Amino acid sequence: MADFQSIAPRDHEAYMRFALSLAEKSDPKPTNFRVGAVLVDEASNQILSTGYTLELPGNTHAEQCCFEKFSASKGVAADDVGTVLPESTVLYTTIEPCNKRSIGNLPCTERILKTRSAAKGGIKTVYLGVKEPETFVGENKGRAKLEEAGIECVHVTGFEKEILDVATAGHPS
Ligand SMILES: [Zn+2]
Repeated sequence: MADFQSIAPRDHEAYMRFALSLAEKSDPKPTNFRVGAVLVDEASNQILSTGYTLELPGNTHAEQCCFEKFSASKGVAADDVGTVLPESTVLYTTIEPCNKRSIGNLPCTERILKTRSAAKGGIKTVYLGVKEPETFVGENKGRAKLEEAGIECVHVTGFEKEILDVATAGHPS
């Protein structure tokens, strides 16, 4: 795909840095965090999709954009993305997936869980760069919810400050 760059298999820091570069493409706004996400087939080390906050029309989140772009590329409905994801799919996201959104928007945690109920494939591991700050919706239980459902969550450390600087670039100081 167009954004592809050569990253060694399981080079979590490099994938996190790539996700952060995607977050930087999102327009700075006071009302959200700028997040970047990368969907990877860990077995073949193929980047399946990328996304960032507000990349697609509407109030779209980074993970959501990853899923919607991938399902569209496979010709399936966004809700059925789990049926076309390889078994060894992992997700890199700069900030812990959200667990609460305003009415009408499915939280990314739910979207991730749905990829697994749809088929045998789906997301098996989520690599996250930082826990979601409590600015907008209070404590995020996204990670705990994913882990309860058997999805491994791995904190890739060392990028916290950069991730938060990028995420909050549009916030009043
Ligand atoms: Zn989200």
